Amino acid sequence: MLPSRTLEYDLLLLALGSVSNDFGTPGVAEHCHFLDSPAQAEAFRHDMLNTFLRYSDPERRLHPRLTVGIVGAGATGVELSAELYDASRMLHSYGFTEMKSNSLEVHLIEAAPDVLPALPERIRKAVRTELERLGVQVHTGTRVVSVEEGAIVTADEQRIETDLNVWAAGIKAPEVLRDLGLTLDRNQRIKVEPTLQSVDDPNIFVFGDCASCPQPDGSMVPPRAQAAHQQAQRLYKNLVARLENGTLKPFRYRDRGSLISLAHFEAIGSLMRGASARSLFIEGRLAKFFYASLYRMHQRAIHGTAKTALILLSDGLNRFIRPRMKLH
Ligand SMILES: Cc1cc2nc3c(=O)[nH]c(=O)nc-3n(C[C@H](O)[C@H](O)[C@H](O)COP(=O)(O)OP(=O)(O)OC[C@H]3O[C@@H](n4cnc5c(N)ncnc54)[C@H](O)[C@@H]3O)c2cc1C
Repeated sequence: MLPSRTLEYDLLLLALGSVSNDFGTPGVAEHCHFLDSPAQAEAFRHDMLNTFLRYSDPERRLHPRLTVGIVGAGATGVELSAELYDASRMLHSYGFTEMKSNSLEVHLIEAAPDVLPALPERIRKAVRTELERLGVQVHTGTRVVSVEEGAIVTADEQRIETDLNVWAAGIKAPEVLRDLGLTLDRNQRIKVEPTLQSVDDPNIFVFGDCASCPQPDGSMVPPRAQAAHQQAQRLYKNLVARLENGTLKPFRYRDRGSLISLAHFEAIGSLMRGASARSLFIEGRLAKFFYASLYRMHQRAIHGTAKTALILLSDGLNRFIRPRMKLH
C-alpha cells in the first residue's frame, strides 16, 4: 500500500472491479460471508472448517444436519454448492467421521425462475439436475428479504435455519466511484460510451466490472472476466488511436461461451462456434479440460508461457506432495 498522494493525469484508466451488492437487504452485512476478495474467501474457509469441526461433536450441533445457505444461484453460488459437498466428502476421509454424504444440507436460493439465469436453458437444466443429485436444495423464484442470526427469511415467509450463510446475489461498483462526479448506473457502475470513454469526460476510460457499457442491441456488457479481457484489448487499441489522433472504435462483446465447474463431480458448459455464434454444449471430461485450460490461459496472460509452464509443473508435483484440503 502506498501513502496518500496526488497524481496528475492526461488520460485516466479506471478498472476497479466490483463488490457484492446486498441491495440493502437487512442483516446481510452482519450475517453473510462475501467472496469478493481472497481475504473474504479465506475468512469463509476458516469459518466453514470451524462449523464442520463443531458439527463433528454431536453435543455442539445447532441442527441435525450442517446447513449452509447460499443466496444467489449465479456461477459463484452454483460452484460453491458443489465444492461444499466435495469438501464434506474430503473431511470424512480426513477423519471427520461424523461428516457423511447426507450430513450436509445446502440451500441455494435464487430470485430468478431458474439457476444461472444468464446462461442457456440446456446448461441451466443440466446444472440443476446435477445439483439436486448431489443433494442441494434449490429454491428458485425465491427472494430473500432478510438474514438473521442463524436463519434466512424469504418473501414467501419461509425461515430457513442455517449454520453458515454466503451472499453471492449480485454486484455493484466500489463505493469510491460515487465520489468522482461521473454518471453512474443503478449499480454504481460508471456509464461509458461504446468506445469505453466515460459519458462525461473523454479523457477517462473505464473497463471491466466497474464500467456500464452498452451493446448495439441495447443490453449491457456482462460483468465477466472474458468481457474485461476483451475490453482491455479494445482499450489498448483505442488508446493508441487516441494518442495518434486516429478514430476510436466501439467495443463489441463476443460471448465465447460459459463453463461451470461442479467440483470433482462434473463440469458443464457451452462454447461458441466461430462467427455463426452457434453454441456447442459440452460436459464431463471435455468440459473439465476446457475449464482447466481457461485457468491456465489466464495465468499465461499474466505470467507468460515459461512461468506458467513452471507453475503447471509445480502444481502437478504438489498434487502428490500436498493434501487437497488445508485444515488450518
Ligand atoms: C468468486 C468469483 C468467481 C468468479 N468466477 C468467474 C468465472 O468463472 N468466469 C468469469 O468470467 N468471471 C468470473 N467472476 C467475475 C470476474 O472475476 C470479474 O468479471 C473480473 O475479475 C472483472 O475484472 P476487473 O478487472 O473489472 O476487476 P477485478 O478483477 O476485480 O480487478 C479490480 C482490481 O482493482 C482493485 N481495486 C478496487 N478498488 C481499488 C482502489 N480504490 N484503489 C486501488 N485498487 C482498487 C481490486 O483490489 C482489484 O484487484 C468471478 C467473480 C467472483 C467474485
